[in-house]
Formats: sequence, C-alpha cells, structure tokens
Amino acid sequence: MFFVSFQEITNMKNILNNLAQLQEIDTQLATIEAQKGNLPQQVKVLEQAGVEVEERLEAATVKLGSDEKELKSLASNSEEYKAKLAKYQDQLYLVTTNREYDALTNEIDTIKTKIQEIRDQHTSISDEVVLLKAEITTLTEKQSELTGTLTKSRKELTSKTDLTNTLQRELEGRREEIAGRLSKRYLRKYERILEVRSLAVVPVKRRACGGCHKQISDQLLYEIKQGNQFIECEGCGRILVYSKNDDESNSL
Ligand SMILES: [Zn+2]
Repeated sequence: MFFVSFQEITNMKNILNNLAQLQEIDTQLATIEAQKGNLPQQVKVLEQAGVEVEERLEAATVKLGSDEKELKSLASNSEEYKAKLAKYQDQLYLVTTNREYDALTNEIDTIKTKIQEIRDQHTSISDEVVLLKAEITTLTEKQSELTGTLTKSRKELTSKTDLTNTLQRELEGRREEIAGRLSKRYLRKYERILEVRSLAVVPVKRRACGGCHKQISDQLLYEIKQGNQFIECEGCGRILVYSKNDDESNSL
C-alpha cells in the first residue's frame, strides 16, 4: 500500500461517482436511441397494412363491377334464347315432315342446353358477387379501423418524438456537465471501455463483476467498497463501483 492523501481519496470518490452518473446517463441515452428506432417502424407497418387493404379493396371493387356487368349480359342472352325457344316451340305445330320435326327438336334441345348453361354461369357469378360484397364490407371496416389507428399512432409518434428529443437534450446537457468535471484521462478510459463493452461502469453484484460475473476476492471487494481506488475488473476491464443497493447481495 502506498500513501494516499485525504485530498486524493476525496478526489477518487468524486471521480467514481461522476463516472457512475455518466454511465447512468449513457444507458438512458442508449435506451432512447433504441426506442427511437421502434416508433417510426410501428407507423410504417400500419401504413403498409393500409396500402395492402386499399389494394385488395380496389381489386374486389373492380371484380364486382365486371361480375355485375357479366350478370346483366347473361340475363339479356338468356332472354334472347328464351324468345327463340318460344318461337321454335310455336313452329313445332306447323311442321309437316318428320325431318323438319327432328331438325326443329334438335334446335330446341340445343337452345335449352344453352339456357341451362347460362343459368349455371349466372348462379356461380351471383355466388361470387355475394362473397365479393362481404369482402368489400370487411375490408372497408378494416380500412377505417386502420386509418383511425394510424392517425392515433402518428399523433403519438409526434408527441413521443418531441418528448424524447426534450429528454435527450436534457440528458446530453447533464452528460456534458458531468464529463466536464472529469479529467481527460478518466473520461477517455471510460469512453474506450464503453465503446468496446457498451457498459463501462458496473456495480459489484453477489460478490462478482456486474458485467462479466467474475468472482471478486474479499480483499478487492473491500477496496471497491472503500471507493478510494480506480479498480477495473480483471475479467472484462470494466470499472467496478460499489452500490449501496447491492450491499445485501454482497454480504457474506
Ligand atoms: Zn468484469
């Protein structure tokens, strides 16, 4: 042990205290930065969902239009064939030969088949129209729901961003102030560890490094608790500090 003056002891306590505060602020700033990424992402997801619903709605509406047109044309075709059928059926009474009768009956059968085909087509398209209308109703509801959520989310995003920016500026101001109290030597050391480990100052927890969990000897624990020395973890190189909150977990 070498002699350490009272002044130096107070000084080291201050340094460690400032470094711990700096770490707290940097952790908060990192959290803010991480959250910032999520918020616009949520709005983007909603916008994408809105575009998808709109596209599906448009496709369903176009299909409905063409189906309804098709139904009209089928109905008019059917009317034409029915008129023809009535005409041929009337002619049946006028035929004089078997050949004429057979030819006419063939015509009538063909027309009847055609009418049945049209009827089947009409039924299948009508079924599709029912489904399309239901889909359009569902999609329209979904669209209005999405629009509501999106408006709300955008508003939330704006106010959260404002709030986040204010908090961030405040934290950055405090960071600058604390960093200003530290000598360049300790600040650089702190920042180097932060860069590599993303956490530079860690408390001792359960008699181990709060960063890498390396066990700490009784002697070292005592020294860290005293707070008179700058102690780095032998395992990860992080700056070790003693937190009163973790006092219980460190007792024997
Ligand atoms: Zn460690």
